[in-house]
Amino acid sequence: MALLSLVVPCYNEKDALHPFMEELERVINQLTDIQTEVILVNDGSRDNTLEIMRELRDKYEYVRYISFSRNFGKESAILAGLSAAKGDWAAVMDADLQDPPALLPDMLKAVREEGYDCAGTRRMNRKGEPPIRSFFARRFYRLINKMSDTKLVDGARDYKLLSRAAVDALIAMPEVNRFSKGLYEWIGFRTKWFAFENVERVAGETKWSFWKLFKYSIEGIVSFTTMPLKLAALLGVLFMLASFISIVALAVRQFVYHNSVDGWTSIVCIMLMLSGVQLFCMGIFGQYLAKMYMEIKKRPHYIIAENSDKA
Ligand code: UDP
Ligand code: MG
Repeated sequence: MALLSLVVPCYNEKDALHPFMEELERVINQLTDIQTEVILVNDGSRDNTLEIMRELRDKYEYVRYISFSRNFGKESAILAGLSAAKGDWAAVMDADLQDPPALLPDMLKAVREEGYDCAGTRRMNRKGEPPIRSFFARRFYRLINKMSDTKLVDGARDYKLLSRAAVDALIAMPEVNRFSKGLYEWIGFRTKWFAFENVERVAGETKWSFWKLFKYSIEGIVSFTTMPLKLAALLGVLFMLASFISIVALAVRQFVYHNSVDGWTSIVCIMLMLSGVQLFCMGIFGQYLAKMYMEIKKRPHYIIAENSDKA
């Protein structure tokens, strides 16, 4: 029988896991013509998520789990889960029921009967999210889609059902700086999109502070486009032009009016502005250098401390 793998990254999800599995169990029972395995990935939780995973493994025979030695981030948890998945299809979903398991039968139908390779999900709205967060999220999608050839769908979730070929393509990508939303798009494949109403998480709280999201969006931009580098160069050229013009103007003023002391202000202004631009551009270069530095080290994406297959 065909096998479906469900990969669930979990970080401090002690209160969400039981309700999540109960809901999932209902959906899995509807999927009679396919076998299912659930791979829970404990991303170095600081609460007793791991113990709950052990309980769940004993309770449901189709549950497996992997536990990291520390928190490596959701992207690494997804990679570990997908690497462990044995299914003909694999789906990634959050543990907090914000990715409704009820969509699974339709998503499966799309890949099994309608000829799609993948089934993706997106939120129709950002209901229940702080307005400021929605605002910046929208700006981010605008910006990255302008700059990068890899187009991201606004509101697309990491909740996605992938064919074996797509899973293999994803795990074959060795990069350390993983931005799943971008990687999902980058590999291509025919995808059917499902829209759903935003749901608030069942228990626990979001792991994404505003600062974490900001860093994540920079990660997305730097991983998927080199446009900021071009921007830096362009800015450099523009300001060189501007300073050339001002040099001419200031020189004329000096020779015609002989009042160079007055010019002090303008020179200081220009110096300040130019050094600001230089620092800005160097900062952009630095971002890419830092990424390269991390990639060159070729460190593993995660370290597994415990694995239910071997426990
Ligand atoms: N998560 C993870 N590692 C982390 C942060 C989050 O595995 O470092 C998991 C988390 O347990 C959840 C999913 O990623 O299953 C999404 O996190 P969250 O619900 O906090 O994000 P939000 O839905 O608020 O964007
Ligand atoms: Mg969530």
